[in-house]
Amino acid sequence: MPLDSRVPSGPLADKWDRHRFESKLVNPANRRKYTIIIVGTGLAGASAASSLGELGYNVLSFCIQDSARRAHSIAAQGGINAAKNYQNDGDSIQRLFYDTVKGGDYRSREANVYRLAQLSVNIIDQCVAQGVPFAREYGGLLDNRSFGGAQVSRTFYARGQTGQQLLLGAYQSMMRQVEKGTVKTFANREMLDLVVINGQARGIVARNLVSGAIERYAAHAVLLCTGGYGTAYYLSTNAVNSNVTASWRAHKRGAFFANPCYTQIHPTCIPVSGSHQSKLTLMSESLRNDGRVWVPKNKGDTRRPEQIPDAERDYYLERRYPSFGNLVPRDVASRNAKAVCDEGRGVGDSGLAVYLDFADAIKRLGGAVIRGRYGNLFDMYTKITDEDPYKVPMRIYPAIHYTMGGLWVDYNLMSTIPGLHVLGEANFSDHGANRLGASALMQGLADGYFVIPYTLASYLGGTSFPAVTTEDDAFRESEAAVQSAIDQLLSVKGSKTPRQLHRELGALLWDEVGMARNEAGLRTALARIPQLRDEFWQNVSVPGPKNNLNKNLEYAGRVADYLEFAELLALDALHRTESCGGHFREESQTPDGEALRDDVKFSYVAAWEFQGMGKEPRLHKEPLNFEYVKPTQRSYK
Ligand SMILES: Cc1cc2nc3c(=O)[nH]c(=O)nc-3n(C[C@H](O)[C@H](O)[C@H](O)COP(=O)(O)OP(=O)(O)OC[C@H]3O[C@@H](n4cnc5c(N)ncnc54)[C@H](O)[C@@H]3O)c2cc1C
Repeated sequence: MPLDSRVPSGPLADKWDRHRFESKLVNPANRRKYTIIIVGTGLAGASAASSLGELGYNVLSFCIQDSARRAHSIAAQGGINAAKNYQNDGDSIQRLFYDTVKGGDYRSREANVYRLAQLSVNIIDQCVAQGVPFAREYGGLLDNRSFGGAQVSRTFYARGQTGQQLLLGAYQSMMRQVEKGTVKTFANREMLDLVVINGQARGIVARNLVSGAIERYAAHAVLLCTGGYGTAYYLSTNAVNSNVTASWRAHKRGAFFANPCYTQIHPTCIPVSGSHQSKLTLMSESLRNDGRVWVPKNKGDTRRPEQIPDAERDYYLERRYPSFGNLVPRDVASRNAKAVCDEGRGVGDSGLAVYLDFADAIKRLGGAVIRGRYGNLFDMYTKITDEDPYKVPMRIYPAIHYTMGGLWVDYNLMSTIPGLHVLGEANFSDHGANRLGASALMQGLADGYFVIPYTLASYLGGTSFPAVTTEDDAFRESEAAVQSAIDQLLSVKGSKTPRQLHRELGALLWDEVGMARNEAGLRTALARIPQLRDEFWQNVSVPGPKNNLNKNLEYAGRVADYLEFAELLALDALHRTESCGGHFREESQTPDGEALRDDVKFSYVAAWEFQGMGKEPRLHKEPLNFEYVKPTQRSYK
């Protein structure tokens, strides 16, 4: 099947405008006749639900949590990018576009990224109108800070709680529509299958997580806004409820999965402290505005940080990348942290940590200013580590944080299944091989508030829909398949918990498909994952009933999906023998250890088609053409 990205023709800056003009519309009086299922209530899902509800569609909104407000997006700390240029420091739509394409290591679609940069300015206006309390300058304008991979300050923030404040804004707008009757919310529901009829996505089958009932919902289109799959690695900065289930099950129904190996490792997380942990905690990238990253110059230096004089410290990011210093992009900062720790210069008990030091900033600006900027992050760090970062440097280490890969979508955010649209982190779209900080919130809200209202209308207006009810065979078959998988999970009655097996899978992925990857390691992972999967189905223990609240059962289903998906992730990493962004193949590096791309062989999106369990998936390639930003060796020096 040829992959058609449906990028409109014409000059880059005019594409989106022209596309909107040429797209079909749905008459306001007809909109309520269309039912739209939106799975997920994070920033992508909540913004889509509120916009589509406002337009008058009949929206059904689903989420796992007991309230839409608890979606993982509330965890976002640092900020959201927009090319407003309030700082007058040289920003523009063109520069945000350029930084994002370069930051993604030339593995994203130019037209999508340009549209994202254009829409960034509308997002801020929308959120301010909703009352999102962005930080302000003394004069009243919104304040900005810097994030990695940019030399301008374009990141809007609400202290260290930007995601929470943005989500409250989107949630309020959505609840306004609930009140008006256009949006109905279904909390505590887990989508377990996509129903495809006559080649169109026409509904979902979901489990009611409180009663255990399996429920069917029909619609004219389905929007997946179900977030990223970083939790496949077990330890990550993601919420523990984040998962790959909805995407993976849609993949098994025909949606191609793009670039699954593009996972982002965030350089500033609180280091792992023991095997008791079920998640890791992020220390926002915004901290690198004022924090300086360093390790001792000498191996095995066990002195306390305050006893190490400046001359014996290696501020390695400032030394190696004088232009960007501590604000190099995440992939670069993470690899450098790993390199100094591998040399034996890591700090802390495990030696797997580097310092993020605020002493200079506190001396320069005073503790009160630092508290104003990052107070809640410092408090969080103190609670977790029992150390005071106002007095001693933070210890940080890279961890899995975000996934650039996801379901393949065209310019309209539609997957390879007509009617199935994918928004936010769940799609692969805009970040290439490495996402710049503060760009995920921007993308999720651009998708939900400003892209999908147009592209969905165009799909609905140009498609004929045979009548479908939840009594159709496809719904019956889907429900039966979901029931049978649940029964199978409960019947194994083995001796290992899903958590034990998930932890084993996560450790394997982190070791072999983590920050650095090589052929031998990837082959080890590919051999081991099916063994772990077999072990799961022979020996997993899932206590509790199916017709009631059962956290073990929910979790077991997600682990079963990780065990299938992980193989695709490793396979994609094996086939891509170049390094790019977050995907670092040790065999492909420059003499000074930077990621070395192979544009001749790999300038494409890898979109995988499911062929059945146990069968090799089929690779489709969407070529990437760079007309406006010419790919070069990325340099932040
Ligand atoms: C700690 C942390 C800090 C971050 N900080 C920033 C930042 O400062 N700036 C930035 O730009 N980005 C940041 N990010 C990234 C950003 O938060 C996420 O990429 C973004 O919030 C994802 O939004 P989303 O709407 O796509 O998905 P999510 O917010 O993950 O929402 C997913 C939704 O899908 C639902 N769901 C999932 N599976 C199912 C299913 N099977 N059935 C039903 N419902 C389902 C969930 O219930 C939830 O409602 C951060 C990420 C982390 C982990």
